[in-house]
Amino acid sequence: MRFIVEESLFLSNRTLSLDDRTYEYLLSVSVNESELLSELREETAGDKFSVMQISPEQGQFMSLLVKLTGAKRALEIGTFTGYSSICIANALPEDGELVCCDDSDEWTQMARKYWQKAGLQDKIQFHLQAASATLQALLDDSAAGSFDFIFIDADKQNYPLYYEQSLKLLRKGGLLAVDNTLWSGTVADPENMQPGTRAIRRFNEMVKNDNRVSKSLVPIGDGLTLIVKDFE
Ligand code: CA
Repeated sequence: MRFIVEESLFLSNRTLSLDDRTYEYLLSVSVNESELLSELREETAGDKFSVMQISPEQGQFMSLLVKLTGAKRALEIGTFTGYSSICIANALPEDGELVCCDDSDEWTQMARKYWQKAGLQDKIQFHLQAASATLQALLDDSAAGSFDFIFIDADKQNYPLYYEQSLKLLRKGGLLAVDNTLWSGTVADPENMQPGTRAIRRFNEMVKNDNRVSKSLVPIGDGLTLIVKDFE
């Protein structure tokens, strides 16, 4: 009995902050990164912006979310070198479709190369221009309510705009995942007034106060806010 009481002192009901050893353990027992994704990770590591790539455990988590929601039609805002798009597209059914938005030709060249390698080129439709223009074109083309899953991971200043456009494009019950909502923890530092930090803070407050949706900020990667559209 005494043993049980003592052991329970080591339990925690709040989210752990993972030290390196625990993080390595988590990766070793739960992440099955494919060879192709690990090759893409290595190639992206040469880029000074490689930190913009999502982590392997987040990629796998997002694949799971796509399967869980039974999504057929997905949208990604901010593709970078393609890691997350491959995680999403692979989790869609054979006849599923992913629309990707990014305005960087340079970064998405690598994404396009890996879509070919993965045999996903027919499943992915890519738009090389400002994402808000692509989203507006989709709305003008009667695509409102036609997406099951949307991932936002682009310029933070425009998150509120992407959010409203995404909510229009999502079907009722669809899932919106928004990346970097903990912004390396800087959002919790009142002295940090960097534009990116302030933008994420504003966005988080906005989502918190939006009663049209259900949400949860999941502390995976750099913070991933999951939002379900509760209205038509
Ligand atoms: Ca990100």
